[in-house]
Amino acid sequence: MTGVVTASRIVELLRGLNGELAPDAQAIIRTRRDERLVDWTSFPHRPSCDLPGLPVGQTRDFRYSTDAADGLHAHVFDDGRVEFHLDLVDGCGNPVAHGLQETEIVKGTLIGLAVAGFIAIIAKNPRAALSLLGVGGTAGAAIGARVPRRTPVVYPLAELLRSR
Ligand SMILES: [Zn+2]
Repeated sequence: MTGVVTASRIVELLRGLNGELAPDAQAIIRTRRDERLVDWTSFPHRPSCDLPGLPVGQTRDFRYSTDAADGLHAHVFDDGRVEFHLDLVDGCGNPVAHGLQETEIVKGTLIGLAVAGFIAIIAKNPRAALSLLGVGGTAGAAIGARVPRRTPVVYPLAELLRSR
C-alpha cells in the first residue's frame, strides 16, 4: 500500500468530504511530507503557482489547478505536516474571484464602510466623512481578506483511508 494516494485521488476525496459537510465548513486532509501512502510523484513537478494563502502557520503554499474550476491548495508546515484543501475557485487561475470566494473581504469592506459612515454621521463633517469612508473601507477589506469564510474540518489521511 505504498504511494496509492495520488494528487487526483486527494482532489476526489476532498470533493466528496466537502459534499458531506455543511456549506460553511471546509474539509482538510492532513498528512506528512514523508507519508508513504501518498504518491508524491503524481503531483505536477511544479505547482501551478505559489500565491500565499491565508496565514495558518504554514511556511509554504503550493497550488495545483484541477480538471475543474476548483484548485488544490497545500499548506506545508515546518514540522513536516502537509494539509490539503480545495479552493472553490483556483487561486492561480483567478486570484480576485478566489479572494472573494474564500475570504470575508466583501463583508469586511462593508463593515469598515458602515463603521466609518456611522462615525462620519456623528462627526457631521462631510469632508472628513469622505476620507473616513475610504479609510474604513480599505481597513475593513484588509481585515476581511484575512478571515477565511469556511470553518476547517481536519481529516488525518491514514484514518480517512481506513474509513472509506
Ligand atoms: Zn486555499
